[in-house]
Amino acid sequence: MVIDDKTYESLARVGKILALRGLNTSHSGNISIRSGGKMVIKRRAAMLGWLKREDLVETSLEKEDSYSLIASTESAVHRGIYNETDAMAIIHAHCPFCTTLSLIEDEITCIDAEGVFKYKRIPVIELDVPIGPKEAAEKVPPVLKDYKVCVVRSHGVFAKGMTIEDALANVTGAEHSAEIRYLTMLTRQPLKRDYSEEKSFKKW
Ligand SMILES: [Zn+2]
Repeated sequence: MVIDDKTYESLARVGKILALRGLNTSHSGNISIRSGGKMVIKRRAAMLGWLKREDLVETSLEKEDSYSLIASTESAVHRGIYNETDAMAIIHAHCPFCTTLSLIEDEITCIDAEGVFKYKRIPVIELDVPIGPKEAAEKVPPVLKDYKVCVVRSHGVFAKGMTIEDALANVTGAEHSAEIRYLTMLTRQPLKRDYSEEKSFKKW
């Protein structure tokens, strides 16, 4: 298993951005890229913001292999997403605003212009056990067939992308929309313009 320089550098950079932006704790979250019939994913318990080359492992997309034991605890979710969607890269992060809104809403409706343009709405997934990969591996992949990003209630987001940077754009974009929605709700003022009521939005 050899992780090339380009893969290591882009995953380490994205991991650091997620940590420094406060979108994960020191040890939460995981990232991966599709690599042929395999995926390169963060090692279990490694610090996402300070990845060393040996913190990345390559494991099969078909079944568990000898690397599965040391790969991220959420590997089964990533494997399911790669097998059921067009994802080329995946990020899981504990974004505070998306997670906060997931506690009080069944979906996060974007009200800022970029969020409306890119995401429209961000689905919230309810799991009996919101932490741990088993149920998430069943319920997250079907949702990411149709959406770029979703939130597991009280836990965090899973986002896909064509590259790891594209997945990062979807995580930070969704979180930015959730923050604007949250701040707008705090004002307790009605919206001057509600995109969610407009025809083009309903048709999505
Ligand atoms: Zn998590």
